[in-house]
Amino acid sequence: MNSLAEEQSRILIIDDSVTSIRLLSAILKDLGRIWFATSGEAGIALAREHQPQVILLDVEMPLMSGYEVCKLLKENSDTRDASIIFITARSSMESEIQALEAGAVDFITKPLNQPVVRARVCTQLNVQRQAQALIRLANRDGLTGLFNRRYFNEMIALEFSRHQRQGHFLGLALIDIDHFKAFNDGYGHLNGDTCLSMVAQTIALETKRPGEIVARYGGEEFVAILPHTTLEDASKYGAWLCEKVDDLKIPHQFSSCASVVTISVGVAALVPSENSTIRDLINAADQALYRAKAAGRNRVVASDSA
Ligand SMILES: [Mg+2]
Repeated sequence: MNSLAEEQSRILIIDDSVTSIRLLSAILKDLGRIWFATSGEAGIALAREHQPQVILLDVEMPLMSGYEVCKLLKENSDTRDASIIFITARSSMESEIQALEAGAVDFITKPLNQPVVRARVCTQLNVQRQAQALIRLANRDGLTGLFNRRYFNEMIALEFSRHQRQGHFLGLALIDIDHFKAFNDGYGHLNGDTCLSMVAQTIALETKRPGEIVARYGGEEFVAILPHTTLEDASKYGAWLCEKVDDLKIPHQFSSCASVVTISVGVAALVPSENSTIRDLINAADQALYRAKAAGRNRVVASDSA
């Protein structure tokens, strides 16, 4: 599970005064990585490239004022979530209101006071960290720690259009624990939850190529997005998962297909075209999964329709 919280903080300073930049860099240097720009235009480019959590933005700059820069940063989806702190030599109620209306979260006046600057920046870095933690929680399934279906829906939409642009195969696997209801009924729900977590972790561990994503799709059903993957490779992946889950040797005396917990996998792959939809891909994997179950479970079946 990758953790953004442990990533280094990113701070951008936009100020036309080199003296100011030097001073701010010295005050903030141990708080994270720092980039700086002496014009609004260069600052916006750096913000898009590095997506800093906090931007210190000078109000009084030639060509483009801090207010204009702020407005542009807030209009762009790559940069709009950054916390923007204005820095200005003017300290009046009006300029403070103007800054907040432009989308800034805070306001520091020159001459710069070292503890004040640090405290304000630290506060915003914490706000950003908490926001990231909330986003992560919102994307995760509470029981298994895998991504949830909401996140899957977002990612499959992104990957589908990306593969459409690139003209590459996108693979999908639907994974279902065999006779899971019987397991729950026979061993109780607590053991059922443990079984779900163990299978989920095994699937996550074995799904590790860059860009691959596993999510909990429903009760005992999981889904894997397999970028740049043909049907043949998706089948190999499915067979590998079946083997790995079988290797866990979780006893399942109520299963009719094995003495241990097993999975059925349906895989599909397609090069998204103008006429194909995400639904087509999911339905194809779903039909393959259905056939895997009908054929006796504990196996992978590849779709013949997508
Ligand atoms: Mg200035």
